[in-house]
This record gives sequence, structure tokens and C-alpha cells, in this order.
Amino acid sequence: MTPTKLYCDFFGHNYEVTRKVTNHVKEYTCKCCKKQLTTNSNGQLIELTPKYEEINSALERIYNNRRLRLKQKTISSSIY
Ligand SMILES: [Zn+2]
Repeated sequence: MTPTKLYCDFFGHNYEVTRKVTNHVKEYTCKCCKKQLTTNSNGQLIELTPKYEEINSALERIYNNRRLRLKQKTISSSIY
């Protein structure tokens, strides 16, 4: 066990948002021990496993595509 891990166990993790996947799903990394968390579909914080990293990447793609389409729709509707 490393000293930083001990610090986290004692004082709690010091998470910061490292990636915004959607409005509701974010990835967090602890500044001390680099432990990573993410939001799952129920809105709960869970450990970021490679499987969830994959899910988040897919989510991000869908989310960005949808946002892009919405933006294009707004542009074309403002022309008429
Ligand atoms: Zn930590």
C-alpha cells in the first residue's frame, strides 16, 4: 500500500472531472492515487473498468453525433 493510498483511505479521494462523456455521464480521477470513477446508467458512481471505458466512448460518439445533427437542424431551419 502506498502512502497516497493511505491518505485517500483516511481523508477520502480527491476526485476531479477528467472527461465529460454526456451531460449526465462523466469520468473522474483521484488527484492523489489516480483511481478512476465514472457515472453508470443509474447515475451512481462506480469504478471505471475497461468495459465502462468502452461504453463511455460509444456513449460519447452517439452524444456528439446527436448534438451535431441538432446544430445542423437549427442552422437549416433558420435559413427558411
Ligand atoms: Zn484517491
